[in-house]
Amino acid sequence: MNLLSFYKNFPDEDACIKHLKEQREQAGIVCSKCGCTHHYWKSYRNQWQCKQCGHRTGLKAGTVMHGSNLPLLYWFIAIHLLTSTKKSFSAAELQRQLGHKRYQPIWELLHKLRNVMGQRDAEYKLVGSIELDEGFFSTSVSADERNKPRKRGRGSQAKTKVLVMAESTLQEPNKRFNLDKAVGHIKMIVIDDLKSKTLDSNVIKFINNESELTTDDSTSYVNFKNIVNSHMSQVVEPKMISKVLPWVHIVISNAKRLLLDIFHDIKPEFLQNYLNEFCYKFNRRKLDVFERLMHSCVSYRTEFKHRYYDNKIAV
Ligand SMILES: [Zn+2]
Repeated sequence: MNLLSFYKNFPDEDACIKHLKEQREQAGIVCSKCGCTHHYWKSYRNQWQCKQCGHRTGLKAGTVMHGSNLPLLYWFIAIHLLTSTKKSFSAAELQRQLGHKRYQPIWELLHKLRNVMGQRDAEYKLVGSIELDEGFFSTSVSADERNKPRKRGRGSQAKTKVLVMAESTLQEPNKRFNLDKAVGHIKMIVIDDLKSKTLDSNVIKFINNESELTTDDSTSYVNFKNIVNSHMSQVVEPKMISKVLPWVHIVISNAKRLLLDIFHDIKPEFLQNYLNEFCYKFNRRKLDVFERLMHSCVSYRTEFKHRYYDNKIAV
């Protein structure tokens, strides 16, 4: 959806209420008390009332906007802005665009949307030929850690480990990218460590067991052959990466660049949300992402809790 059609479709709060109501009724309103699916719409309260027991269901109840006091128009604008660019929007930028006084509600709104994106993508497993590797993303160092001696390289406190998986199938050599493989869906999952137990459980959770995995020869991957159909592990010289594991490295470097461009000093506990957004949009790059995200927003209640906000700009 482009800017003009967005403002044509959603000029004000009433238009957003109407759209959300339609979306929710399409999905079906179920009474949380008696399970009845027949309701009256009470427009003066923006609520449905159960025809059987009289229980009321609010317009935002059970959606990503559950409990939010912000205008629906804010949510719709945020959904539009996030989905209209391959990049992203910082909370400070969105706050400025909306002219809203307080930073925190806008910051929370964006994280709630990113959380819902992650919930949606978690319902799908990757399948087919899959590349797998780890990425190390720069994140901020906590006050406790700051006083300790800084470790170097992969074990550094300023790096957060991310397991990256990409569906990647052989194709006719692509002249534009000079690649022999075409990418499908991707996943990026923040992990605490690189132990084989941790990696195994993520592969079981996120990859269909009929798949064929390609990785480098890390010792953490020893059990993969028992989890998926086949596992090809090999020593990958740097010059061979574009042949063997092209897509995991392309998406890692694209995600790193994007995060560095737009956000600064991301806290490790929020990195997953930013990666959710990156993957969600990447996985829907050929679709109308606005409609998809709107649908996800209606279908999922956010799990995001703002435990870490500390009066400074938290990113
Ligand atoms: Zn009822």
